[in-house]
Amino acid sequence: MDIIIWLIVALTLTWFMSYTRASLSSFTLCFAALMALGSLFNIIGIVSWLLFAVIALPINIDNIRQQFISMPLLAIFKKIMPQMSSTEQEAIDAGTTWFDADLFRGDPDWLKLHNYPRPRLSSQEKAFLDGPVEQVCAMVNDWYITHEIADLPPEIWQFLKENKFFAMIIKKQYGGLEFSAYAQSRVLQKLTGVSSVLASTVGVPNSLGPGELLQEYGTKEQQDYYLPRLAKGEEIPCFALTSPEAGSDAGSIPDYGVICHGQFNGEDVLGMKLTWDKRYITLAPIATVLGLAFKLQDPDNLLSEQEDLGITCALIPTDIEGITIGRRHFPLNVPFQNGPTQGKDVFVPLDFIIGGSDMAGQGWRMLVECLSVGRAITLPSNSTGGVKTAALATGAYSRIRRQFKMPIGKMEGIEEPLARIGANAYLMDAVTTMSTGAIDLGEKPSVISAIAKYHLTEKMRSSIIDAMDIHGGKGICMGPNNYLARGYQGAPIAVTVEGANILTRSMIIYGQGAIRCHPYVLAELEAANNSDNEQALNDFDHALFGHIGFSLSNISRSLWCSITGSRFLGSPYDDGTRRYYQLLTRFSANLAMLSDISMLSLGADLKRKERISARLGDVLSQLYLASATLKRYNDEGRNTADLPLVQWAVEDCLYNIQHAIDELISNFPNKIVGKLLRVIIFPLGTWLKKPNDEISHKVAQLLQTPGSARTRLGQGQYLTRDGNNIFGRLEQVLEDIISCEPIYEKVCRELNKKLPFYHLDKVAELGLTNNIISKVEAELLTTAEVGRQWVIAVDDFDSKDMTAFSGSA
Ligand SMILES: Cc1cc2nc3c(=O)[nH]c(=O)nc-3n(C[C@H](O)[C@H](O)[C@H](O)COP(=O)(O)OP(=O)(O)OC[C@H]3O[C@@H](n4cnc5c(N)ncnc54)[C@H](O)[C@@H]3O)c2cc1C
Repeated sequence: MDIIIWLIVALTLTWFMSYTRASLSSFTLCFAALMALGSLFNIIGIVSWLLFAVIALPINIDNIRQQFISMPLLAIFKKIMPQMSSTEQEAIDAGTTWFDADLFRGDPDWLKLHNYPRPRLSSQEKAFLDGPVEQVCAMVNDWYITHEIADLPPEIWQFLKENKFFAMIIKKQYGGLEFSAYAQSRVLQKLTGVSSVLASTVGVPNSLGPGELLQEYGTKEQQDYYLPRLAKGEEIPCFALTSPEAGSDAGSIPDYGVICHGQFNGEDVLGMKLTWDKRYITLAPIATVLGLAFKLQDPDNLLSEQEDLGITCALIPTDIEGITIGRRHFPLNVPFQNGPTQGKDVFVPLDFIIGGSDMAGQGWRMLVECLSVGRAITLPSNSTGGVKTAALATGAYSRIRRQFKMPIGKMEGIEEPLARIGANAYLMDAVTTMSTGAIDLGEKPSVISAIAKYHLTEKMRSSIIDAMDIHGGKGICMGPNNYLARGYQGAPIAVTVEGANILTRSMIIYGQGAIRCHPYVLAELEAANNSDNEQALNDFDHALFGHIGFSLSNISRSLWCSITGSRFLGSPYDDGTRRYYQLLTRFSANLAMLSDISMLSLGADLKRKERISARLGDVLSQLYLASATLKRYNDEGRNTADLPLVQWAVEDCLYNIQHAIDELISNFPNKIVGKLLRVIIFPLGTWLKKPNDEISHKVAQLLQTPGSARTRLGQGQYLTRDGNNIFGRLEQVLEDIISCEPIYEKVCRELNKKLPFYHLDKVAELGLTNNIISKVEAELLTTAEVGRQWVIAVDDFDSKDMTAFSGSA
């Protein structure tokens, strides 16, 4: 009996010490104390002590542990470790980790999350949003831009240049606006609500491109020359990486430069002959300066001993002879400037390399570092702005449009997609705010930027499809009054650029996340690559035993969470969100455990097992999306009116996490390990459900009812009610229709007749003639009818105009 009690105590102690991530020495001491207690009660004899000594002594004595455990394991590790190309290594080294690392490590500190400051706009940024941004939105006629001229009109180009829209990232010392990442995001969100062409045109020069690269890596001469010109819009930049043969695999570009002597502006200089064939380059057709990525070769060793210097970035004025540029691609009826460019043996001085000849071969590192920031801003913000505007417009339309004698938004079938759009809009705004906030705190969050890019562009695509379905024929018939179709047509663009989404999900999110966020894997990899054997062994030994303790702790935590239903886990709030924090902590522990077991059982194969990598990445991503949602709720003062949006969004994330883990375990290559994982994580099966109908109903109603929660949802979008702004007018009609519903009911009641809810002007006449309503009420009915007719109308065209469409944009 005593021995059973002792064993239970020993097991509990092992579990407790690993759960709390106790150090190896504390673990050994505690166990020795327990053994001593066992000896006192005659349970532990000499054999057990010998066994204990055989295990405990070597692992606690550095020299012995390193010689007999770590050294052979290091040799095995070197063999199974995935081989990394230099481009992969640079991608992994780029950027920083932030709260994503906490989520990856099994025990996120929720107070730390909530203590990160909420990003705020400066007075200058606020004035810009209320001034020039508002003005340019009022100038936009998206149908004219997308259909008639396939470009922004000259007055908008001029306005953008004069007001420094292309200089949001350029420092004030060079004449730029030097806005925070958060402010850039708010500007793009507002612009994209009215025109994708406008948002793409403004987004690109402020994202990865010459401006960013010059500021980070340019020589003083390059900065002094180009940055003021870019700030004033005197130069239009583009950046050309993609080639016909190198899209996603951008590191394999065949474009090259050969270092040689040549004549430039009448002088003999050391330079390079460049040859390239690029495509899909945004702004290229009108660019005055081309940022070019190519592989630099030095066959005559004119610059260094090395012949292949690697990917290099240079700035090439587009008026140099030999450059072909100006032709356009036609991206999905969203005709922003985009096209190919070629050059054959174009000779330029080495000074044209960004950062000068010292930066020859550093191009890939420069690009991936800038991408860590840019990818979290432009595409996520454009997607978010589009969905916020679509959410309000679709909510309004659902309330105004009636079928079967009721607003379509009251039908359960419509409530489902409406709820998805509303909760997505809330979550997406939360994610852009938190991610740009991280950048403004000085982070270059490479994993977070990949998560934001993938999930927000995907949510944009699905939300626009939902919005189109709700609008029925109104969404399909193109024309100046169709406010959805261009967003729908253009959705795949955001999905494809800056790392196509399938690749981003399959390789980048977890591939980078696992190595960057894991507390020990990067150190193990670095140790394995270290040519100094002694240092390598020391580092590996330290990382390895830390890793073992970390893994044991995550197994213990996962088991404990499963047994207790995670109900004893802490939460910073004791309200309706308490359970969300507990479940997220639980899944964070599951992710840490699954990640280690996947790496251990698959080794180098994990790189090729993209489905496994994608599902682990899904868990990390959904943990991040839910955390951002909870942070937004907290930062905005825990408004209970917003709770249905939070509940829908977080419960959807939790369900998606469960689904990703379930699929991962079901398809785990080693079936026995898969079964064991299921016992640890889902001993009672999968139990989480999608957000229920009640929450879904509340979100759908919220979208159709003006109020504080709905206003917060559309915060910052262009909703000015100037009569020309479709979205402002929709808001007005929504309010008018809601205000006149009781008047309409009164007329019906008094006349004892159920009148149809169209021809409200006739209802007004009837009400007035029968002295049921006042003149003011009658006017409201008439105004609402005009608005209602406008909302449900679609454009039609003369046949001859239709024939002209096929030949135009
Ligand atoms: C409108 C537009 C604007 C653009 N602007 C620019 C610009 O300004 N500058 C610039 O340099 N480039 C630009 N691009 C290029 C863009 O970045 C590329 O289109 C993108 O990198 C994908 O390359 P690809 O189109 O050749 O697709 P491919 O590389 O051929 O990919 C095809 C499919 O395979 C998937 N895939 C590829 N590898 C993997 C993998 N290992 N695992 C799983 N799936 C994988 C991809 O996700 C994709 O779904 C632009 C493209 C477009 C369409």
